[in-house]
Amino acid sequence: MSHAKPSAIMLIAEKARALKAQGRDVIGFSIGVPNFLPGEHVYAAAREALSHDSGQYGSGRGPEALQDAFLAHLERSGLPGYTRSNVCVGVGAKQVLYNLGQALLDVGDTIAFPAPYWTTYVDMAEILGAKVLKLPCPPEQNYKLTPAQLDAALAQKPKLFLFNNPSNPTGMVYHREEIAALADVFVRHPDTWIVLDDIYNRMIFDDVGYHSVLHARPELRERTVVVDSLSKTYGMPGWRVGLCAAPEQVAKALATLNSNHITSLPEVVTAAAVAALSGPQDVPDAKCAEFASKRDNVMAALAEIPGVNCPRPEGAFYAFPDISIAFGKTHAPTGLYIDNDVDFCGALLEAKSVACVPGSAFGEPRGMRISYTCPDTQLQEGLCRIQEFFAELR
Ligand code: PMP
Repeated sequence: MSHAKPSAIMLIAEKARALKAQGRDVIGFSIGVPNFLPGEHVYAAAREALSHDSGQYGSGRGPEALQDAFLAHLERSGLPGYTRSNVCVGVGAKQVLYNLGQALLDVGDTIAFPAPYWTTYVDMAEILGAKVLKLPCPPEQNYKLTPAQLDAALAQKPKLFLFNNPSNPTGMVYHREEIAALADVFVRHPDTWIVLDDIYNRMIFDDVGYHSVLHARPELRERTVVVDSLSKTYGMPGWRVGLCAAPEQVAKALATLNSNHITSLPEVVTAAAVAALSGPQDVPDAKCAEFASKRDNVMAALAEIPGVNCPRPEGAFYAFPDISIAFGKTHAPTGLYIDNDVDFCGALLEAKSVACVPGSAFGEPRGMRISYTCPDTQLQEGLCRIQEFFAELR
C-alpha cells in the first residue's frame, strides 16, 4: 500500500471543498457523479423491500430477480442468450473489476488499455501486482484506439484488455464500423481476455447507438466480460450496484470471490436495482437528453477559445479539451505560471474557483477533464470563467 497514491480527482475535489469552506463560490467540474436521483419507483421498491426484509445473507451472484432484470437489459442491448449462470454482481462496477483482476490475472500479468483511461485502472493494476500496457490515443485521433494499435498491443499477449466505451474521461463513443474493425482484431488474437467496461452504455447521444465487439463478433463471448453498473446511468452511485455477464466459469469464480469477501449485496439495495433496471426508463432517458444538450453548451464555449481543441464527446458526461496551448504561459492577474496540466488546473481553481481534473490523472497530460452534470446556470458560469482564464494568459 506504500506504493498507492491518493487519487488526483480527490485531491482537486478536496482543494475545492476547502476553498468553498472559506466562502469561495466554487464551481465543481471535477467529480464524475451524475447529479440526479433515480425515479420514485426505485425508492418505492426499496421501501417495500425494507418492510419485509429477511435480514439474511443473500447469494454472491445477486438474487435471481436481479440476475433476470440484468439479463433482460442485456437482451434489450442486443446481447441475448446469456443465462443466470453467466451473471454476477458486485459492490459497484469497481468491485466487479477488482474481482475480475483477481480471477483472471496472476501477479506479473499484463493489463492493456487505451489512454486516456479511467484512473482506477492503473491503481487497480498496482494493487493486483499486474503490469500495465497503456496505448496512447491522443486528441489527433479523437482519443480513440485504432485497429493497428490494438493489433500491436495484442501481439504482446497481455492477459487482459480493458475497453471502456463510452469513455471516462473523454466522452468518446465508438461507432458501429469502428467497433467492428476492433472486433476483427480481437478475433485474430485468441489469448487475451476482453473486459468491456460499458457502464455508461445508456448515456449515448446523437443516435450513435451502443455498439459492442460482441455485436460485431459474437464468438468473442467465450472470453469477454461485459461490466455494467447502476451508478451513472440511473443516478445511483451510492447504492453500489455493479453487474457483469461473463463466461460461466468466470461468473462462477466471481461468485466464489464474493462469497469469501462481501458475501452478498443488501436485500434492499438489490430490490431498488431490480426496479431501476426493469421499471420505467424515463429518468435515464431524460438525463441522457439533458447531458447531450449540456455537451453542446460545453462544446460551444470551448470552440470560442483560440487554440483549444476538444474532440466532440458523444456519450457519458465528460469533455476532455486539449489545453496544452496554455503551457509556458502566465495567468497575468495572479502571476501564476503554467508549466503543465496540474499547474493549469491549480491556477484555474485558484484564480477562477473552477475545479477540473488534470489530464495526467488519466494518462493524457495535454488535457483536462470537465465533468458537466451540474445545473445549467453553474455550467454556463463555469464555462465563462474558463474562457476568461484563457483570455488572461500571457
Ligand atoms: N468504470 C468507469 C469507466 C467509471 O467511470 C467508474 C466510476 N467512476 C466505474 C467503472 C466504477 O463505477 P461504480 O463502482 O460506481 O459502479
